[in-house]
Amino acid sequence: MIIGVPKETYPGERRVAMVPAAIPNLAKGGCEVIIEAGAGLAAGYLDAQYVEKGAKIIPLRADVFAPADIVIQVLCYGANDKTGRADLPLMRRGQTLIGFLRPLASPATVAEIAATGVTAFAIELMPRITRSQSMDALSAMATVCGYKAVILAADCLPRLFPMLTTAAGTITPARMLVLGAGVAGLQAIATGRRLGAVVSAYDVRPAVKEQIHSLGGRFVELPLETGQAEDARGYAQAQDESFYRRQREVLTRVVAESDVVISTAVVPGKQAPVLITADMVEKMSPGSVIVDLAAERGGNCELTVPNATVVRHDVTIIGLFNVAGTVPYHASQMYARNLATFIPHLVADGKIHLDLEDQITRETMVTREGSVVHPRISELLPQTATHNA
Ligand code: NAD
Repeated sequence: MIIGVPKETYPGERRVAMVPAAIPNLAKGGCEVIIEAGAGLAAGYLDAQYVEKGAKIIPLRADVFAPADIVIQVLCYGANDKTGRADLPLMRRGQTLIGFLRPLASPATVAEIAATGVTAFAIELMPRITRSQSMDALSAMATVCGYKAVILAADCLPRLFPMLTTAAGTITPARMLVLGAGVAGLQAIATGRRLGAVVSAYDVRPAVKEQIHSLGGRFVELPLETGQAEDARGYAQAQDESFYRRQREVLTRVVAESDVVISTAVVPGKQAPVLITADMVEKMSPGSVIVDLAAERGGNCELTVPNATVVRHDVTIIGLFNVAGTVPYHASQMYARNLATFIPHLVADGKIHLDLEDQITRETMVTREGSVVHPRISELLPQTATHNA
């Protein structure tokens, strides 16, 4: 079983889908890893380190795809909407492709991938069940994002984070607000606390209150009736516009009192809700910082500019995309571990063995034998596009 690891081609992407330390585990399962020359360099992994762990370095990208039974990438075509299409001619029937495909946002590209005949698995569709926690790349990347968001904020803020009592006087701690306490938000709370900020957080799912407290954060109680706030998978449910309007009203004071806001609020398959309006930004103290981790999904702040840092009303608003990619060493390490756990799930006796009764296999598989096989994606396509081959 040959696992091929091409170099990432999305402009500025520094992560890599496999790291040397994860190779021995795959080798134990009978898998051989071949990797495009220099694929790990931008993340801090040298070709020689891969070779040391038993991988083969391949100079040409096409020669990585051609023999590979499984091709693993961070951003596959779909998630890589800039240069990913160039990989289509390299894919072939019978091959397996695993990575981020952004399938619900770009179903037409899934149909194009299906037409090549590969069996593709979209890692972002991993079900959130206990058994799949170690394969959950969305959570791994969200952890990195939550951490880095706080570091970005600390770098821009013209204040220190911790309370300090010094001979030169007392420094009051920074006040940080986290909107959305999922995986990224909880990591932001923990990181903010470690740096010494006073942290409060809000989420529509009341279940997270205890988690916020356990990390030393304060749960912001808002007089809001959330109704059904959580779906069966643990994700937030969308609320109606009158809820969001009311939420903005009651958040105005809390946002104005914060030096840093880290916003992570998203609802699967929807535009991110606007929780911070221009008026609310104007009420913040000069020098305050907003890091909008929902920027890729439209942003939680009305003034967020996609993939840019801007200053509005003397407040720095960071709408950087692909924040996980800015910590490529550990983001790659975590992602590689996710894949090294997922791959054995698809392989038995040195062959791809797809157990369609299994929830993890069924819910991540998006194409097979020339067709789009994931019902949520097929629904988004015109009927003819789901059967290309
Ligand atoms: P996410 O990235 O989809 O959303 C981020 C957060 O934003 C969520 O906590 C959501 O409730 C919140 N949010 C949405 N709308 C909001 C609003 N208007 N105001 C404030 N907050 C809002 O979520 P996620 O981080 O991927 O995790 C969602 C849940 O799934 C968490 O409870 C997490 O613990 C759970 N989870 C379980 C597993 C597992 O069991 N294997 C794995 C990962 C995550």
